[in-house]
Amino acid sequence: MPNEKKSSSVTDGFHLVVDALKLNGIDTIYGVAGIPITDLARLAQAEGIRYIGFRHEQSAGNAAAISGYLTQKPGICLTVSAPGFLNGMVALANATTNGFPMIQISGSSDRAIVDLQQGDYEELDQMNAAKPYTKASFRVNKPEDIGIGVARAIHAAVSGRPGGVYLDLTADVIAATLDSDAAKKSLVRVVDPAPRQIPDPDSIERAIDLLADAQRPLIILGKGAAYAQADDAIRKFVETTGIPFLPMSMAKGLLPDNHKQSAAAARSLVLAEADVVMLIGARLNWLLAQGKGPHWSPSAKFVQVDISPTEIDSNRAIAAPVVGDIGSTMNAFVSALRPGQIQPKAAWIDAIAEHKQHNVERMATRLNANPNPMNFYSALRAIRDVFADKPDMYLVNEGANTLDFGRDIIDMHQPRKRLDCGTWGVMGIGMGYAIGAAVVSGKPVVAVEGDSAFGFSGMEIETICRYHLPVVIVVFNNGGIYKGDDINRSGSKDPSPTVLMKDARYDKLIEAFNGVGHHVTDPKGLTKALTDSLASGKPALINCTIDPTAGTESGHLQNLNPQTKVNRQ
Ligand code: ADP
Ligand code: MG
Repeated sequence: MPNEKKSSSVTDGFHLVVDALKLNGIDTIYGVAGIPITDLARLAQAEGIRYIGFRHEQSAGNAAAISGYLTQKPGICLTVSAPGFLNGMVALANATTNGFPMIQISGSSDRAIVDLQQGDYEELDQMNAAKPYTKASFRVNKPEDIGIGVARAIHAAVSGRPGGVYLDLTADVIAATLDSDAAKKSLVRVVDPAPRQIPDPDSIERAIDLLADAQRPLIILGKGAAYAQADDAIRKFVETTGIPFLPMSMAKGLLPDNHKQSAAAARSLVLAEADVVMLIGARLNWLLAQGKGPHWSPSAKFVQVDISPTEIDSNRAIAAPVVGDIGSTMNAFVSALRPGQIQPKAAWIDAIAEHKQHNVERMATRLNANPNPMNFYSALRAIRDVFADKPDMYLVNEGANTLDFGRDIIDMHQPRKRLDCGTWGVMGIGMGYAIGAAVVSGKPVVAVEGDSAFGFSGMEIETICRYHLPVVIVVFNNGGIYKGDDINRSGSKDPSPTVLMKDARYDKLIEAFNGVGHHVTDPKGLTKALTDSLASGKPALINCTIDPTAGTESGHLQNLNPQTKVNRQ
């Protein structure tokens, strides 16, 4: 331990980092120990910060990122230099893309050697390497700047649109000693790091006027709206206006999926026909076809509520931008609304209801079929029903078909309970998100994973078992990426690029760490294994055999496959 018996007048960089984090309410660090940050992790733990140690930095970073999303405080990921730093960068870049507040702190090698490229252990110019992928990237070069460095990192991570921040601590800085009094004075407690951003009242009026004139208005709720924790104001606005809403994936549950104004089951209709669309914390990115093309009405007008002024007009002209934080903004909308001012036409509401009913009936037929072997529909129906009984559980969901079907089938009933591949469509968030959610909430987490998706972070089941976290993993095992029945066209014995081990027993993996493994082949077995696992509160993995022919290549994203594009031309 560094300076365990430090004299009253001297401290060191290790202590200062821990003091700076504690002073700012950081209570958990996610990381992987090693040179030069091992003692930093030990000291943080000794000083009362919870330390969760992972098997790979990417998962530690994903846990930090999702804890940032759930708590509005930056999630902290601690890594070693160069390779460990780079492993964490995927998670940090993903946090930036998704707008999750996170700080990756990495130790780094000797600046003098790194800058002259003289070949140090784990040599890399980490601060500059991080810049293109982060909201901000800082390096602390003097121990007396640790306090300021941490404060700047916190402000950058949580203010405005949140994001990933990199903070570089050189081995020299953390090992340096300095006078205790000077050290104490150098610490900074940040004040109001995510200040409210009150919208211009004129922008509220402009938006209300546009919505009041609409024949077929629609609200799209994004994960920015979920992040903002302005649930009551959002609900009040939606219910007072009666406007149908569409939740983006991670905004599901902000209003319950079975809410009568939900237009999720009539998505194609409402996107194509809405004449005024109000985006609340949702970007017009690929997940909404950039607001263009055959999915959208070319004449639709937009209201966009966002904290980031540069988001406006990024893909389509926005007739009524409202720049502000969602809490302040939705409260302003609720106060400004006059009774009956916004009233969607009955014909619009009826058309949506009809479309919904048709789609719900079609889906019910699929959900209630009981094919043998099991397919995605029947397996997800079983999971959906368990969530209906236990709505405060977290759902982590990744894969291709597992993600697409999971989003449509598993209803969410509470805000911020669905955590998934998000803006990038990244694979590998599964175990990191599950661990982060379990750590910050203490609540059960069910991770519904494609078999390929699970593989990216699967070793973290040891972490889950080591910390006794209430995580149940359901692996949808169809023996492959997308599906398990692809063939090798060369005639050699090698499996096809998308094929994984047939009949793999993922359930046995968790048994190696004293977790509970289940292997199920029908929906009844899945329901029982899941409810039993949840009742026990112990880590469990349910290997769920799915028909290898079920699923489609690239899930719902077939249009993004270059080959599909070539074939179409
Ligand atoms: P989704 O993928 O669910 O559509 P996005 O991540 O694309 O959501 O969009 C979220 C948007 O929310 C971003 O443009 C971001 O700037 C915005 N945002 C995030 N937090 C807030 C907040 N507190 N207030 C207002 N806007 C926010
Ligand atoms: Mg699969």
